[in-house]
Amino acid sequence: MTNALSRLLETRDWLMADGATGTNLFNMGLSSGDAPEMWNEEHPDRIKKLYKFAVDAGSDIFLTNSFGGNAARLKLHGAEKRARELSRISAELGREVADASGRTVVVAGSVGPTGEIFAPMGPLTHAAAVEIFHEQAEGLKEGGADVLWLETISAPEEYKAAAEAFALADMPWCGTMSFDTAGRTMMGVTSAAMVDMVEKLPNPPIAFGANCGVGASDLLRTVLGFAAHGTERPIIAKGNAGIPKYHDGHIHYDGTPELMAEYAVLARDSGATIIGGCCGTMPEHLEAMHKALTERPRGPRPSLEDITAKLGGFSSASDGTGEDAGAGRRTSRRRRG
Ligand SMILES: [Zn+2]
Repeated sequence: MTNALSRLLETRDWLMADGATGTNLFNMGLSSGDAPEMWNEEHPDRIKKLYKFAVDAGSDIFLTNSFGGNAARLKLHGAEKRARELSRISAELGREVADASGRTVVVAGSVGPTGEIFAPMGPLTHAAAVEIFHEQAEGLKEGGADVLWLETISAPEEYKAAAEAFALADMPWCGTMSFDTAGRTMMGVTSAAMVDMVEKLPNPPIAFGANCGVGASDLLRTVLGFAAHGTERPIIAKGNAGIPKYHDGHIHYDGTPELMAEYAVLARDSGATIIGGCCGTMPEHLEAMHKALTERPRGPRPSLEDITAKLGGFSSASDGTGEDAGAGRRTSRRRRG
């Protein structure tokens, strides 16, 4: 265990990850049709500023600006030949910021989905997916990423292909899925099924978990599902700052810093070890989360009612597991913080 993340996990019982990448970059002037990865080259100062937001708020881990930096995604911008290079630069900028911080900060090389559907339903073969992820992994490794960080995955095939690619690159990794469809991923994976899949991998991740999805409440229900299914592996919680709302053509997340502080403490009590935010999570949210995690003691594992009372209702009645999936269990009344 020679990587920075494993070393931190040996000495700390919780770690804070970062917040939103997209939301913060849009605030710095990124247009919604543009590839954020181009900014690694065009606006390195803005990308370093993004990383520094997280470091200054107390994050132990931040993700590189390479979520869409695989060849399949960059193809939409005519930049499919630049996956390795743009990923490398994202990690080099991260290395610079982390090394200047004066403490151990983990540079996690972000790897997002290809955006393509796997065969036989779609065009993407396993071999092609492994190649796409391997290319990006090598770029992130060259740039100095401590670990690779797979995120927002829906299909188990894609998670497994990335795992295989990361083994080829000989890199330690973490990987989260997005449970955005009535407690399951878009491709139907439940929290319990993810635990089973992760434990069967020949090169399992250092930590696994959930990111993005619907709101903070749903994400914690998924974390409780991981813990209930039984796992010794560190769990990652990276929930959105509330629910996206549309105002005048802009997406706005309704979660306040106070709500995200509650979320962070509840995530830890639910069994998560690595806690961060996803869409809508700004520096002020991270600061409130870090303060709460530092100052507030651990509590008992929360019930679903505790979660909805503090963070608001779930988007679906069930968490997608069990025989009553899709029907049944009612959750407490909606109350948003
Ligand atoms: Zn998100």
